Amino acid sequence: MHDLPHRPFRHAVVTGGAGFLGSHLCERLLHQGVEVTCLDNFLTGTRANIAHLMPDARFRLDHCDVTEPFRVRGPVDLVLHFASPASPADYLRLPIHTLKAGGIGTMHALDLARDKGARFVLASTSEVYGDPLEHPQRESYWGNVNPVGPRGVYDEAKRFAEALTTAYRATHGVDTAIVRIFNSYGPRMRPDDGRAIPTFIRQALAGDPITVTGDGGQTRSVCYVDDTVGGVLALAGGGHSGPVNIGGAEEMTILDLALLVREIAGSRSPVRLVDSPVDDPRRRRPDTTRARETLGWAPEVPLSQGLRRTIAWFRERPSGGRILGED
Ligand code: NAD
Ligand code: UDP
Repeated sequence: MHDLPHRPFRHAVVTGGAGFLGSHLCERLLHQGVEVTCLDNFLTGTRANIAHLMPDARFRLDHCDVTEPFRVRGPVDLVLHFASPASPADYLRLPIHTLKAGGIGTMHALDLARDKGARFVLASTSEVYGDPLEHPQRESYWGNVNPVGPRGVYDEAKRFAEALTTAYRATHGVDTAIVRIFNSYGPRMRPDDGRAIPTFIRQALAGDPITVTGDGGQTRSVCYVDDTVGGVLALAGGGHSGPVNIGGAEEMTILDLALLVREIAGSRSPVRLVDSPVDDPRRRRPDTTRARETLGWAPEVPLSQGLRRTIAWFRERPSGGRILGED
């Protein structure tokens, strides 16, 4: 397990801390003795994701929208900016909010880091590479994004957020870092969030048809959440400004991923081919040389093990842990 290697952080602010990745980050930071303030508006996250953290006196929840001005009391030495819709289904239904979270929300989070003299980490994404023409994707690749396509709202928000983060570093001397996260999966994803793995698991467990888009030949390299969080915190704890790719090592087709989920879930669901979304990236695999050389990071959890843990979690909580009616 990776931890904070160099810096003894005392108080971290996690925007989007009630989401999938954010809640795991809050949990890991608390385990490492760091006080945590979670800022979230519950747009795509849930109270259930952080319910187990609420009794901890070092954990504070502030229900706020980071696209509006906000304040955090006392000293802060780390800001992890994770607030943004992340699933294609979410950002396609929330296009303007997604642009605001990446633009105005990132500016507010950077201002917080500047005011407090804190280290800042931006959760960027493999989507900045768009439908990549270079494979695997190195951090030096500039990407192939359609700004006026439906995915542009997310991709361009993150590209703007990267540019803004870089400008705050150069202009205001903020100690910033950018992590480009590739498809991550694990417990606390919403079963209805539209992303491939939670959808396949939900369908497999219900015996419903597993909906694979296009011909299923498009690829992704998925990464278990514990590994992703380890990479983010290794970057936070070091001095590197990034961008650094954090993602899985095994590239596979979406059809093979669907078949593997079905097999591990012990399901007899048929696979149904459905229409491909517009601008769906055809191939995606991170080059993680930089993460390995600068952070000593590499993913450790094999896909079959990560899927087993995730499927077990979904099996226990068919509602995805959501306390229905609460959010
Ligand atoms: P998620 O939807 O589970 O979490 C996002 C959280 O942000 C939610 O709790 C949501 O309520 C909150 N949020 C959204 N807008 C907000 C606002 N204006 N103010 C306050 N809170 C707000 O998604 P996730 O998968 O956990 O992704 C978290 C971050 O990591 C996102 O920035 C996403 O772009 C990035 N990321 C995730 C992945 C992945 O595979 N999960 C890959 C690349 C990048
Ligand atoms: N996908 C699929 N069936 C689904 C949901 C997604 O085949 O029910 C495909 C999607 O078209 C894409 C891949 O799986 O090719 C990964 O999609 P996801 O939304 O998980 O992540 P992203 O598109 O952001 O990489």
